Amino acid sequence: MSKPAHITVLGGGPAGLAVGYYARKKGIPFTIYESGDRVGGNCVTLEKGGFYFDSGAHRLHDQDPESTAELRGLLGEDLREISVPSHIYHRGKFIDFPLSPLNLVTTLGPFFFVGAALELVRSRLKTEHPDGSFRQYALHAYGKTITDLFLKDYTEKLWGASWDRLSAVVAGKRLKGLNLRTFVTEALFGRRAKTRHLDGSFYYPKKGIGEIFEALADRTGRENIRTGSTVTKIFHDHKSIQALELNGREVVQIGEVVSSLPLNLLAGILEPRPPEEFLALARGLRYRNMILAAFFLNRESVTKSATVYFPDSEFPFTRLYEPRNRSREMSPPGKTSLVVEFPCQPEDPVWNLGPDQVVEKVRTPLLRTGWLQEEEIIGTAVHKINQAYPILELGYEEKLEKVFTFLRGFGNLRLTGRNGRFVYAWIHDMIRFGREIVEEYGSEK
Ligand SMILES: Cc1cc2nc3c(=O)[nH]c(=O)nc-3n(C[C@H](O)[C@H](O)[C@H](O)COP(=O)(O)OP(=O)(O)OC[C@H]3O[C@@H](n4cnc5c(N)ncnc54)[C@H](O)[C@@H]3O)c2cc1C
Repeated sequence: MSKPAHITVLGGGPAGLAVGYYARKKGIPFTIYESGDRVGGNCVTLEKGGFYFDSGAHRLHDQDPESTAELRGLLGEDLREISVPSHIYHRGKFIDFPLSPLNLVTTLGPFFFVGAALELVRSRLKTEHPDGSFRQYALHAYGKTITDLFLKDYTEKLWGASWDRLSAVVAGKRLKGLNLRTFVTEALFGRRAKTRHLDGSFYYPKKGIGEIFEALADRTGRENIRTGSTVTKIFHDHKSIQALELNGREVVQIGEVVSSLPLNLLAGILEPRPPEEFLALARGLRYRNMILAAFFLNRESVTKSATVYFPDSEFPFTRLYEPRNRSREMSPPGKTSLVVEFPCQPEDPVWNLGPDQVVEKVRTPLLRTGWLQEEEIIGTAVHKINQAYPILELGYEEKLEKVFTFLRGFGNLRLTGRNGRFVYAWIHDMIRFGREIVEEYGSEK
């Protein structure tokens, strides 16, 4: 494909910004349309009363060397390598996350370990026909004891669906590090064989995750980014996208388009309206919302973790993080904060609660941990994230492929982004998607 005259990018989150960034590097003119009043989408850093916190427990994982190198070049010394482990909180104990057999012995005892190991061997020997569900994957890979304790309830809380209706893909890379081989090697060789923390080492900017995307926007050129511009209609002639309607009034003609909008939204604003069969498929791709409740504290430190996971059902939330453990600059001196993640569906009553009611709902179980005293709370904030995660239900790939087949009919449309591609992907993937799309534009056929 030869170099296009102009690219229109829908959405100014990480994925949209990455397209703009690489387009600029390649000298391709572009415009990013973003509905919000700032860039960064679901990866922003918020501030209240001198406390900073991210829209979720974000870390930059060094999983795509080119993306890491690009961002290190962009942020310089502000992008630091951090080494802080994460933990699971279970009945008053902190257990390493990702799970490590050696740590299970030391925290839950040798009887637990031997029982769980035997069960793991047994589950591996069983030859059940895999149905692709998270339930079967987890039982086969980890055995019943570990699955019941750490995986089942947590996964169902996070995704809002029964574990036998979720695809095994939701396990992602979170559960790496606990398999039969590590069980046996750690049992035989102990600490020397201890699984390296996948979560423990990551990159994090001095001023919060949002610093990455503010820097990307600066380098991309703010003059090419139109915030406050909601794409309300996408006009097409069945073969290509012709124009956009912005904020229900302005119409702009376009050439090449890259969309990072959630697929169900994109499908719903196509004009003329696509066949009902396609719209129903797109509507069937569901997303999970997330509420964040931040507690600002008059004390220096609470946890030693990057993130703490709460698998037990007595806690309505899934995890919390202490921003100060990623960068000291996230809290005023001598103070810290905790940010709790509470996943939900838009139809759940909690989604429509006001900030005070959300805080009330989270405060009681949080205080039950005994980690903090009520009088140490000197402020709170609530932030709601619409469409935080695509819900990867069993069989979603088939639906998705049909949706993609329809959208491939538009010769000038490309898709990017977590919700735009309906994929469980990360910041480094967003950067890579942008690079790949722009490389493709520039290469001769
Ligand atoms: C709680 C949480 C924790 C996470 N933790 C990590 C982590 O530790 N590490 C990691 O690598 N990744 C993490 N992620 C994933 C990461 O945040 C996403 O991969 C990333 O935000 C996806 O970027 P995106 O641009 O595809 O989508 P988004 O960030 O959702 O951006 C989409 C943009 O499109 C805009 N938009 C929507 N509709 C319209 C419209 N009609 N017109 C114009 N603009 C529109 C939105 O306002 C938004 O700015 C986490 C995500 C969440 C939710």
